[in-house]
Amino acid sequence: MTLRYRSSRGLAPEVDFGDALLGGLAPDGGLYLPAAWPALSEAAPEHYAELAAMVMQPFVEGVIDANDFAAMVADAYRTFDAPDVCPVVELDEHHHLMELFHGPTLAFKDVALQLVGRLFEHELGRRDERVTIVGATSGDTGSAAMDAVRGSERVDIVILFPAGRTSEVQRRQMTTLTESNVHAVAVDGTFDDCQDLVKAMFADEPFRERCRLSAVNSINWARVMAQIVYYVWGAQQLRCRGEAITYCVPTGNFGNVFAGHVAHRMGLPVDRFIVASNTNDILTRLIATGEMVADEVVPTLSPSMDIQISSNLERLLVELLDHNGPATAELMQTFRATGRAALTPEQHQQLSAEFAGVRLDDAETLAVMADVHHRHGMFIDPHTAVAVGAAERLRRPGERILTLATAHPAKFPDAVEQATGVRPELPSHMAGIFERPERLEHVPNELAAVEDYVDAVRRA
Ligand SMILES: *Cc1c(COP(=O)(O)O)cnc(C)c1O
Repeated sequence: MTLRYRSSRGLAPEVDFGDALLGGLAPDGGLYLPAAWPALSEAAPEHYAELAAMVMQPFVEGVIDANDFAAMVADAYRTFDAPDVCPVVELDEHHHLMELFHGPTLAFKDVALQLVGRLFEHELGRRDERVTIVGATSGDTGSAAMDAVRGSERVDIVILFPAGRTSEVQRRQMTTLTESNVHAVAVDGTFDDCQDLVKAMFADEPFRERCRLSAVNSINWARVMAQIVYYVWGAQQLRCRGEAITYCVPTGNFGNVFAGHVAHRMGLPVDRFIVASNTNDILTRLIATGEMVADEVVPTLSPSMDIQISSNLERLLVELLDHNGPATAELMQTFRATGRAALTPEQHQQLSAEFAGVRLDDAETLAVMADVHHRHGMFIDPHTAVAVGAAERLRRPGERILTLATAHPAKFPDAVEQATGVRPELPSHMAGIFERPERLEHVPNELAAVEDYVDAVRRA
């Protein structure tokens, strides 16, 4: 049976998986969700890629052939440098870490994007179409997206980043790719300027049509879908598929932890989710008070969580609001217009029954990194440290916790060195990154200049 996808705002036509994949955002401004949650199969394949194909198949049923899909999934996870793809390691008897950073760009974004790149290629091939993906990055997402589509016949990708404001590793991950369909563009400006340029390109309708613009940002349903798998995998690795455990998730846009919620809805036993935030703690405050109040974004040691408006939260809100699309749209509009929105006491209770929230500042994050190194001889990155600290703070006697490790420590060498006195080394497959020649374009912070560049390089 083919699963249909509907918008969280309820004012757009239902679509199939292929349209949800390529469309990203629904035409009414909402986010796509499947019309029903398929039930998780009892089967427990031993290999990550087999489990992944099994868990995700119902979401693509009727659109992608099962054998084609399994082949794409296997191919995506062959790019990971750990045989288990997402290995689970022990901190202590009741607290484990699941390492989601063994993909090509060393952050958990690869788990979803390596598959999404292949899904784009497949769906565009079926339709005989091409697209130009444009995006802005402060570091991690851009390199993961570029790596995922490099060499594609049907996708060109242009990623804007703020000149001089990413780390050298992050920049080189984008500029040392040799495939001719990937383009890194340094903009004279901030990350917000880059994002504004991307929004302006999408708002320029003739340009959008001409280039067949597309995006792979974190609201894309296929990214959430790919992340469901490792919640099931983690329970299986702990031999806990039948037992409810707690997942602790370093959170920014709420995409990762929402995928855990979906696994829960599909039948995975879950005790609770701990949402771990840095100083940008809007979600922690929402869980504590039932009220969403936006604040200034403060830069921290865990930049991929420096977010005040968590776009994927809308997917959870629509459930709390009994799938009332117009009410969800109104809540989001109130929040965007006034920086405030409140849940009813019943909705708040439902939220806090499943999610707990903890916030750590930079000093606390560094202390956790030092402590984990001291006690376990292990390096963790600042995002993971926020979650480890949150789990330690909330854990109850006997509670089994699986904390998600979202970036490789070598991706944030300065913070690791500051906390532990030791500079972590890059994994061997990235060792040559400092010697390879860089290829990038430098453009001023002007829409016309960026559009001219995209027009010049695109094939779509
Ligand atoms: C993107 C990212 C996060 C936040 O994930 P969300 O899905 O946005 O909540 C956490 N850690 C790292 C390293 C990331 O790259």
